[in-house]
Amino acid sequence: MDLSKLTISKARKALDAKEYSALELTNAYLTAIAEKNPEIHAYLEVWEDSAREEAKVADAMIARGESQPLTGIPIAVKDNILIEGRTASAGSKILENYKATYDATVVTKLKNQGAVFLGRTNMDEFAMGGSTENSAFGPTRNPHDTSRVPGGSSGGSVAAVAANLALAALGSDTGGSIRQPAGFCGVVGFKPTYGKVSRFGLMAMGSSLDQIGPVTKTVEDARIMLEAIAGYDAKDSTSLADSATRSGTSLEKVIGVPREYLREGIDADVLQSFEATLARLRAQGYEIRDIKLPSLTYSLAVYYIIMPAESSTNLARFDGVRYGLSVPAATIQEVYTKTRGEGFGPEVRRRILVGTFVLSSGYVDAYYRKARAVREIIRADFARAFSAGGGSSLGGESVDAIALPTSPVPPWKFAEKAVPLAMYAADIFTVPVNLAGVPAISVPSGAVVREGKDLPVGFQIIGAHGNEETLFTIGKDVERGF
Ligand code: GLN
Repeated sequence: MDLSKLTISKARKALDAKEYSALELTNAYLTAIAEKNPEIHAYLEVWEDSAREEAKVADAMIARGESQPLTGIPIAVKDNILIEGRTASAGSKILENYKATYDATVVTKLKNQGAVFLGRTNMDEFAMGGSTENSAFGPTRNPHDTSRVPGGSSGGSVAAVAANLALAALGSDTGGSIRQPAGFCGVVGFKPTYGKVSRFGLMAMGSSLDQIGPVTKTVEDARIMLEAIAGYDAKDSTSLADSATRSGTSLEKVIGVPREYLREGIDADVLQSFEATLARLRAQGYEIRDIKLPSLTYSLAVYYIIMPAESSTNLARFDGVRYGLSVPAATIQEVYTKTRGEGFGPEVRRRILVGTFVLSSGYVDAYYRKARAVREIIRADFARAFSAGGGSSLGGESVDAIALPTSPVPPWKFAEKAVPLAMYAADIFTVPVNLAGVPAISVPSGAVVREGKDLPVGFQIIGAHGNEETLFTIGKDVERGF
């Protein structure tokens, strides 16, 4: 069994044809994990025994002819998604010994299909970061060059798939945390429309931005995973009705490129690789049209106000009383401060400070409310670009999708972006998508060379609200070129 060539769709066929059993498949992954995880550090914990038990249950389902798309498929889960009875630490000391008391909706759905859970994966603490260096448990390494970061915050999930330590994985994306690491590690990362996948059982970072999504080796696998986890959920008050889904590309196959946004802060060879992929799409019959999204320039500023504001309120629940770590002290106030001081790492504390500041009386109008207003303009810009007839002031008619590089730079070396703002700046192309609530996919599209090594580059395709289908169609066309 060559795990490097395996996809969900291939494994499905082989399992159903009894070429190998789910148990054999799971064992192959467990062996690969034992071999490579000590170096890559994609997993924080591996569940050998239960994975084998789940594989046996899957084999029984297959034998009864009851197999579903993910029956017996070995997957990895980001450490901020709850699985009943399992530790879920969100990469934080404060939750090091916290065990989930219920299943996230996505987990319930995967369990019902008979998927096999290999383990929980490393991440930046509470999903804050773009390199997985902010994990309290040490960083994950990029399988393409272990002296470099895998991206983040879902670096563990992505490295697991890229190093063939899982067939697919779940990540979460608040400002790029699925797409950016997927781009950095040469795999597919998908951020669904806000509300498409239930957030019930996902530890909240920025509640109005967070979405769970798949990390896979192919676009088709991402489609299979999304289908399995998507759907209305009454337990998530922001869940979308299933009827909110739109589908299909127009016959024109038009992709918009907000070129003004590509002028600075992007490595020349990354831009070249982006242009080369656009040229390939053009050769496949796509029209590539320049569009204007004037508000995009404000995305980073808006994101780094709204996200910490929401994070700071969401993290208020970690008080040394309700969950995880509790540092004993003389008064309850001291329990709060000591627990939070010792339990949270520096980046999390930084964001709590910024979030509390932008929400504080006297500043809330200047920062938080203004950011909310600009966010609406960003949302409207995207909506206009996708709506027929609305595009003229923005440089043309409506487009089926918008293309941007996933990241302006390739994966960097450990500690290279120690200044927080330098790391934040690398989120420039991913955060607008979360602000607008639209879906986007990162598809591998070649490589750039650094120090003699090929480093993967991701091509990002952004779709209209509820229109994931178009992204799969275009994503497959991108894939075809490589
Ligand atoms: N890198 C971004 C941040 O640090 C995105 C994180 C995420 O999507 N969870 O906030």
